[in-house]
Amino acid sequence: MNKKNVAFIGLGNMGGPMASNLVKAGYDVRGFDFSASACDVARAAGVTISKSAVEAASGADVVITMLPAGQYVLDVWSNVLPHVSTIATMIDCSTIDVESALRAHELAGQKGIACLDAPVSGGVGGAKAGTLTFMVGCNDAAFGPAEKVLLSMGKKVFHCGGAGAGQAAKICNNMLLAISMIGVSEALILGEKLGLSHRVMYDVMTASSGRCWSLEAYCPVPGPVPSAPSNHNFAPGFATPLMLKDVRLSQKAAGSVGVSTPLGDMAVSLFAEYEGAGGADKDFSGIIAFLRQKHRAVVEVT
Ligand code: NAD
Repeated sequence: MNKKNVAFIGLGNMGGPMASNLVKAGYDVRGFDFSASACDVARAAGVTISKSAVEAASGADVVITMLPAGQYVLDVWSNVLPHVSTIATMIDCSTIDVESALRAHELAGQKGIACLDAPVSGGVGGAKAGTLTFMVGCNDAAFGPAEKVLLSMGKKVFHCGGAGAGQAAKICNNMLLAISMIGVSEALILGEKLGLSHRVMYDVMTASSGRCWSLEAYCPVPGPVPSAPSNHNFAPGFATPLMLKDVRLSQKAAGSVGVSTPLGDMAVSLFAEYEGAGGADKDFSGIIAFLRQKHRAVVEVT
């Protein structure tokens, strides 16, 4: 199936570069965002800016949403679906709760429209480079035609299962990411106190069993990984409120299926504390500074 016209709604840190990669891949992309500056950046990348989400989606072969949370997605889908062709495909790439994802599938299903939940991993760097990983939930019939569109924005596409399975995979991954960033930060702070340089710790741990993405790609101390937010005063990147949102979603899901995830719970408390202590507009890897302060407070009390 040759799907040529794509509507892209939500042109923010992730959606903007994703839409731009679709343009580069030869799609006609119509976009919409409430933010004038996001629209300006997308327009410069070749996206035709529409006056509304409905205008962008009308007549499109594929409609993609990349929005902050479940309620935004449901509002946009409810508005646009009456105007979307029955042979179109709806794809939500936002990270949202599994219940909202299922509701979105239901809304599309009522019109007989193919639909995917397809959240991503790889951050703003991956969105710009077109190397995102997509985790997809949908039926087999919807997956095939959509895969080519997703591969124009990413390198890997995993069909995780039926409706909601993409979001389920995403929140499991991001619970692990939240925990691993705290773990990497604690190890670096301990090493500092034991007299090790950041360079030595980075070299040792990336060649040893503590190796992980939080250390290798997103090292929370400046120096070893020049592209990491730690070198840019923790400008996001992946903003702390989004990380907190995801780990809260994982804990909500864990509660709904009766699974105990104590480190996930702890990650929620620590990221919530960090958000309230100056981390709200910082990258989530900035939690290292908050954990250092916590350490100082403990030392001062004892
Ligand atoms: P963002 O805040 O930069 O972008 C969201 C955009 O949606 C904003 O520009 C906003 O104006 C727009 N928007 C909100 N409501 C709208 C509406 N009704 N119609 C049109 N536009 C609307 O956020 P982001 O970092 O691009 O994240 C988007 C999604 O991707 C989130 O669900 C997030 O959890 C997920 N995500 C983000 C990252 C990351 O590293 N930033 C990584 C993976 C997944």
